[in-house]
Amino acid sequence: MTLTSNRRTLLKFGAAASTGLGAGAALASPQTERKLGYAIMGLGMYADIILPRFAECRHSRVTALVSGSPEKARRYAAQYGVPETGLYTYDTFDTIRDNPDVDIVYVILPNGMHHEWTLRAAAAGKHVMCEKPMANTAAEAEAMIAACRAADRKLMIGYRSHFEPNNREAIRMARSGELGKLSVISAETGFNIGDPKQWRLNRALAGGGSMMDIGIYSLQAARYLTGEEPVAVTAIESTDRSDIRFKEVEDTINFLLKFPSGVVANCVSSYGSGHNRYRVVGKDGWLDAEPATAYNGNRLRLRKGGQTVDHPAPALANNQFAGMLDHLSQCVMTNAEPIVSGEEGLRDMRIIEAIYTSAREGRTVTL
Ligand code: NAD
Repeated sequence: MTLTSNRRTLLKFGAAASTGLGAGAALASPQTERKLGYAIMGLGMYADIILPRFAECRHSRVTALVSGSPEKARRYAAQYGVPETGLYTYDTFDTIRDNPDVDIVYVILPNGMHHEWTLRAAAAGKHVMCEKPMANTAAEAEAMIAACRAADRKLMIGYRSHFEPNNREAIRMARSGELGKLSVISAETGFNIGDPKQWRLNRALAGGGSMMDIGIYSLQAARYLTGEEPVAVTAIESTDRSDIRFKEVEDTINFLLKFPSGVVANCVSSYGSGHNRYRVVGKDGWLDAEPATAYNGNRLRLRKGGQTVDHPAPALANNQFAGMLDHLSQCVMTNAEPIVSGEEGLRDMRIIEAIYTSAREGRTVTL
């Protein structure tokens, strides 16, 4: 690819990012073809989704792996072309500060470990991509933001849907007035969780139950589709405590978010049943996304003028994974703030805490 065509692609994607989300400025294109180096921390299920996507990146590559298992790290290193000098355990991690090929540490560990390892990555002088939910608590999230700010490092949360073409198109339509004045959003995310011994069902490692893990997608959707911040939340929790999976964390939470424009979002978060959809209803029509936030195969339908049609998103320059990874690289290279920064993660953490308070105390919580 030539520098000129690469610039064109970057500008196109940067412009799309700013129109879709309102929060991000279009990024100036970096002056070189340089690829920033990522260290992937935690080689679990989601790392297996992320690692192959670097092949599609223009500005990001994998240069290091952090794993508790040296044998596993070596196997992944051979597969993804990571040199022996880029292999770390949790014990040797702090020496990553001496590795000039690592610019960014991508924390893909259980939620309860995000806080500690973000702080350590920032202390090692590295920028941080941290998976959702950002932390176990809003207080931890605040400390992560402060640590990255003090070290003058970028902090971005792995909210991939902001880079997914259908979601960007849904945001554009919802906010442009094409559906008329918005009245109701419904958003449901959930799955039937298995192994009762997994970390997602352990409070210390997960921070909570379905709300932290999967309900956060419904919360995000309600916020990015409206472009507003909720002013009140009301939640009801339904958990069968005799179910061995739910000794420590919640199963299902239904929650209502009231937005300043009057839109009410009616949301479901579940560890008991499968959901992945949202619907945005306006005076003149609706759009429906199902699946809405899957890794691939997302679909949008649109109802307008008495007709319901499939509405595929216009092709954008990047898929959601490469778009997300390259966005942070571009932000580092141009000193721009990520559109899904630590502050964005913190906003979700505060709302999730309000949802838990509402469910526990049986009252509406104002924000
Ligand atoms: P996983 O259990 O498959 O992987 C976790 C990794 O952390 C494993 O390699 C494990 O060995 C390692 N680890 C280190 N210390 C551990 C400990 N004390 N207990 C358990 N594991 C430990 O989990 P995952 O599904 O890859 O999730 C990791 C993070 O990624 C979570 O924060 C999750 O919310 C997030 N995630 C995001 C998406 C997305 O679409 N954005 C999808 C899946 C997971």
